[in-house]
Formats: sequence, structure tokens, C-alpha cells
Amino acid sequence: MEINLVSDTVTKPNNEMLQAMFRSKVGDDVYKQDPTVIELEEMVANIFGMEAALFFPSGTMANQAAIKLHTNPGEQIICDKWSHIFHYEGGGASFNSGVSCCLVDGERGMITADQVAESINPPDFYHSPKTSLVSIENTTNKGGGACYDIETLRDIEQVCRDHGLKYHLDGARIWNALVAKRQNPKHFGEIFDTISVCLSKGLGAPVGSVLIGDKKTIDRALRVRKIFGGGMRQAGYLAGAGIYALQHNVSRLQEDHNKAKELANVLRNLSWVESVEPVETNILIFAVKPQIPESLVIEKLKQKNVLISALGKGKLRIVTHLDYRDVMHTYVMETLQKMSF
Ligand SMILES: *Cc1c(COP(=O)(O)O)cnc(C)c1O
Repeated sequence: MEINLVSDTVTKPNNEMLQAMFRSKVGDDVYKQDPTVIELEEMVANIFGMEAALFFPSGTMANQAAIKLHTNPGEQIICDKWSHIFHYEGGGASFNSGVSCCLVDGERGMITADQVAESINPPDFYHSPKTSLVSIENTTNKGGGACYDIETLRDIEQVCRDHGLKYHLDGARIWNALVAKRQNPKHFGEIFDTISVCLSKGLGAPVGSVLIGDKKTIDRALRVRKIFGGGMRQAGYLAGAGIYALQHNVSRLQEDHNKAKELANVLRNLSWVESVEPVETNILIFAVKPQIPESLVIEKLKQKNVLISALGKGKLRIVTHLDYRDVMHTYVMETLQKMSF
């Protein structure tokens, strides 16, 4: 038995989810004739209290479409230095939209309204790129699953409104934040121009993300998705998995968070662990003592059938998820406690 804690994307659909996929009614979604895709889009738009939504094959494409919708070539996005849109989307912001990123030195991937305000280029100073979009991530990926307070998000919104900037939320793991902080998704819908959410991370669907916004923006997104090659035909089979995931796998995210916290408590007491970052959701980042190579920790755990990943600079990452069951958790806790260097 292999226990994969590299990411919450490694989950596989269970039997009930597969049955739900099989049962899905489908049509050609490029003609907007797939009833299950439409059902999913309406469902997600309703959750956030926004007008419209569009199903995408990946979170990367949904974010990239949002950037395309909110910017013109030569302009600039303000985002945290660790943002997924900057680090992990293959340079898509510059490739697809011809924009640059003004990187903010945030805290665990989270930025503040003051930092945003300081990063805006004066609109009449034509030597600098025109700032047009602020993109934030919640929960933060490289920041270790940290989540924002609604107040901070509203403060940033105010700065955006004052300066005529668009405001996008990369909410790949927004479900984790909603559960961890008991927040109301409708508040997020009020704050942002667009939100991207993943169904294939904590929720366990095999594929799929959704971009949400007002009707006008999402109508434009349909064209952008087509241009990016993201129009899918009988995509209802995939959307069916997303609907099942939203109905069954949201509130249980608390279990993943509890397990991550329990692992953190074990790690904090181990002699070979230097430090453990605060755990708010399902991502746990810790550092090993400087004399211990991270690769050795990864290798030793691998020999015990436990897979985790390295982030560089002595840091390691564990991500808990739907397929990380209680028996596995007990085994991993024991294995970590027995390990020595
Ligand atoms: C995973 C992730 C995405 C999208 O990833 P895909 O693999 O393209 O679905 C976007 N933003 C963040 C913060 C993520 O963690």
C-alpha cells in the first residue's frame, strides 16, 4: 500500500462518484448543450451568489482566462511572490496575455491592502506598466494552506475599487478555506470580479475547475476558453463528478485539516525537525535540521511507502486528502515517530 501525501490532486474517483459520472446526461458543451455542465455551472455560481460560471479543464486555464479577461498586453498584475499564477502556470501570464507580475512580499502567500496600494503604478506615469489586476490566492499553495480573513479581502477590494483595478481570486482550494474559517461563500462572491475554483483538489473529482463572475464577464470567458483550446464536447461526464464532489466532499475537508494538524503535532516533537509552519488547512510545511538532507527524509519515508515532496531550502511538504484514510494516518504518525537520523 502506497500512501501518497505529495498533493491533494492524487485522489481517484470512488465507486459512487464513477456511478454519478456514468449517469450524467450529456450533450455538446461547445454548443452549450450539455445539461450536466450547465447544472454544475449554475450550482457553483449559486454557491458564491454570482451571476454565471464556466467549466474549465484545469485551474490553470481558468486563472489564465481570468488574466486575459481583465488585462491588455503590456499591463501588470499585482500578486504575491509565491503565487501559483506566477510560479506554476508555465509563464502563462506573459505568454497568453503579455502581462508582467508585480510580486509582493507577502506573509505565507498572503498580501495586504497596504502592499497592494504601494504596488500600483501611477496611471499617468507612462514609463511603467499600467496596473490593471490584483490576483490573490486562498488558500495559499506555496504559503502552506494559509487563509485570509474576509476583512483583509475587503480592504484589498477597496483599494482595487479606488484605483479601477480588477480583482481575481485563485480559489483552487477555496473549499478548504470556507470549511476552516466557517466563511460564507456569498461574501467571496460580493468581493471579487472573478473566482476560479478547483474540483480536482480536495474535493476529489478527476478533472475540472470553474470560473465564476458576472454574466458579461463569463460570456467573454466563453470566447477566451475557446481560444485557449478549452472547449470540451460531452464534458457532462466530468461535470457529473464535480456535482457529486460538491454534494459529498466539502464538509469532510475538516477531517483532512485535523489530520494535517495531528501530523504537525507529531513533527514538532521530533529531534530531526527544525520547525513546523502553522497549519490552517490540509497543507503542512516543515523544515528539517540543516545537517539532514531533505532528499534523505524523502527517501526514508519512501522506503516505508510514504510519499511526500520537497520545496527546497530544507523544507518539506505534506498534503492530506480524501484518499488518506484513518488507517494510513495511524501508520504515518507511527512511522514518523520511529524515524531517526
Ligand atoms: C492547483 C492550483 C491551481 C490550478 O491547477 P491545475 O492543476 O491547473 O488545475 C491554481 N492555483 C492554485 C493555488 C493551485 O494550487
